[in-house]
Amino acid sequence: MNAYTTQLEQLKSWFFALAEKQSFFLPKKMEGVNYRFERLHCVNEQDLDLLSYRPTILPPGKHLFPDGEILFTYHKDEQGHYHFSQGSTIEPQIIAGVRSCDLKGIYLMDRVFSDGIKDTHYLQRREKTDIIAFNCLTPCDDHCFCETAQSLDFQTGADIFISPLLEKDCFLLEVQSSRGDELIKTLVSDKCVNATELKQQAMDSRPKPFGRQFVTPVEQLSEIIHHEDAEYVYQQYAKRCFSCGTCNLVCPTCYCFETKDEFELENSLDQAKGKKTRHWDACLNPGFAEVAGGHNFRPEAAARQRHRVRRKFDYLPQRFEQTFCTGCGRCGRQCTTGIDIFDIVNDVCLSVEQEQESEQ
Ligand code: SF4
Ligand code: SF4
Repeated sequence: MNAYTTQLEQLKSWFFALAEKQSFFLPKKMEGVNYRFERLHCVNEQDLDLLSYRPTILPPGKHLFPDGEILFTYHKDEQGHYHFSQGSTIEPQIIAGVRSCDLKGIYLMDRVFSDGIKDTHYLQRREKTDIIAFNCLTPCDDHCFCETAQSLDFQTGADIFISPLLEKDCFLLEVQSSRGDELIKTLVSDKCVNATELKQQAMDSRPKPFGRQFVTPVEQLSEIIHHEDAEYVYQQYAKRCFSCGTCNLVCPTCYCFETKDEFELENSLDQAKGKKTRHWDACLNPGFAEVAGGHNFRPEAAARQRHRVRRKFDYLPQRFEQTFCTGCGRCGRQCTTGIDIFDIVNDVCLSVEQEQESEQ
């Protein structure tokens, strides 16, 4: 792996140069304190906030799985034969400023969408996406719990991984793929021979612990969250849940979707042409688990909260051997009523622990 050092001004110039050639997305401050991955326009210096940006409302992985994407279109010819075409156009893109928690989110989505029947729409877009990731030296805010969720320091999947160094405005760039080698050709930089040492010095400056911590190690959660005493906790949180689904929509590891068909009818209700689109879905919505005939497998909000926690810390980890919560903190940050999966998990652990102590 090649490593380079560069200065802030060179980094900015490089980003602008890359943005001139293709779609280049970077977190940008929107109204208030919110950040969003926006396309960088080559002349707008204020779009560049490389050091102080906060977590975006939507994670960058949603660029690989856009809401409302067209899966395919079709039309019928004069002989009555149907012809199908690819839907949304997939262009090359660079997503920069991806933090380790979101990098892990993308890695997990790569695993999910290549498991079993491959999702060609996601995978084609992923293949055309280069990722420039950014290391964190401080927790992004009070909601973050990436260290305890084991995503701090996650580097897999980035073409280039950038770490701020202790020397002011100096950065280390680790090139992790052949695409990264291509990208870095236009950066003014120096080859670095003591990358490990410089990076370690920067990482040693991090606060300890880094962000909020679970009271129980994440490896033990799959068993605890199934304990019968956990039910009471899910019910307490459900009392103030609006079942709006926001926590799902902002989560980097939620990938459920539904599809819709749109027809254009010609003469005598003939389906002459149309398209199939897919849209994000949310397991916290009351109708998510409703099936034909009207039966709902999870009609109560407590059952939906329980399901979400189990998906993140048990069902999907069993299948992919990774925790499916990256500790990004988005669900707690965006929930109108302040429900935070971190609090739910810790309350479950504490209540199970108390129950076990009282039995002894
Ligand atoms: S964002 Fe909050 S209120 Fe909305 S479904 Fe999720 S937990 Fe419930
Ligand atoms: S469950 Fe919440 S904290 Fe965990 S990855 Fe999803 S949005 Fe982030």
